[in-house]
Amino acid sequence: MRIVLLGAPGSGKGTQSQRLMQQEHIPQISTGDLLRAAVARGTELGRKAKEAMDGGRLVADQLVLGLIRERLAEPDARRGFILDGFPRNLAQAQALDRLLATLRQPLDLVVQLEVDYGELVRRIAGRRTCADCGRVFNLFTAPGQLSENEVCPRTGSAHRLIQRPDDNEATVTERLRVYDEQTRPLIEFYRARGLLRVINAEGEVDEVTRRLEQALHAIERPKAAKTARASTRKLGSPKRSAPRRGASRRAAKSASGMRRKAAATARAASKGKPPRRAPDGTRTGTRRGARRARR
Ligand code: AMP
Repeated sequence: MRIVLLGAPGSGKGTQSQRLMQQEHIPQISTGDLLRAAVARGTELGRKAKEAMDGGRLVADQLVLGLIRERLAEPDARRGFILDGFPRNLAQAQALDRLLATLRQPLDLVVQLEVDYGELVRRIAGRRTCADCGRVFNLFTAPGQLSENEVCPRTGSAHRLIQRPDDNEATVTERLRVYDEQTRPLIEFYRARGLLRVINAEGEVDEVTRRLEQALHAIERPKAAKTARASTRKLGSPKRSAPRRGASRRAAKSASGMRRKAAATARAASKGKPPRRAPDGTRTGTRRGARRARR
């Protein structure tokens, strides 16, 4: 499964891709997380990215594309991936198309998480992340998740919650403006390619996960149909070994019976004997058939 989660900051891409990652056992690839890790390590890329990130603007395409190219080349991405926060503009989407074409791993689906503007701002203001395991919490929209029994799987103690430096009011406004201007056009880009599904991403987190799973079934159905067509072709092949069942067995029996009768008729004809059945289906090669013929 190779999918992109598209949506404004605060639409729940991170939360939903973390859930999906555990369910599908495929990696979540978040360019935001990769960039934050580079900033934290103080690498050259991190230093170059920091200014744009602090201002809520997009980091230069070449830097982000370099990160994505490296990440997609890692072995765990061969089974599939969830792209979270990438692509962010048309140039990145086109570059991703080219990269995936070379890897022969085209996208299966792009899911757009739709959330109202006011709700986005509320979610971003309440967002906190565990500094150790990276799990995302929300003080306002999901306070129940912060129970005292919850422990960080990395440290074994309580989660160490921090607020992202770019989750402040001024930066949020700029990030939402950048989203409208540069990322929103990707909705049409992917719709035109027949890859887009839009889901309502407001409401309970579990409910949004359910909607997302429904959208993902759209990938599995055509795949299942393809597999079924392939196995139907196999069923028609003469070397089948699986036992036939019910109606299919009866149909096969009657077909093979007809083939045997046709072969017998052909053998009899070659020996000069009259066929046992006339073209109208009456028996001709039996005594009863002969009596009927005389009458
Ligand atoms: P996110 O965690 O996805 O909200 O990203 C945080 C910040 O990282 C964004 O505001 C951008 O400055 C930067 N960023 C993340 N992904 C990209 C991307 N695909 N292209 C450019 N900048 C990005």
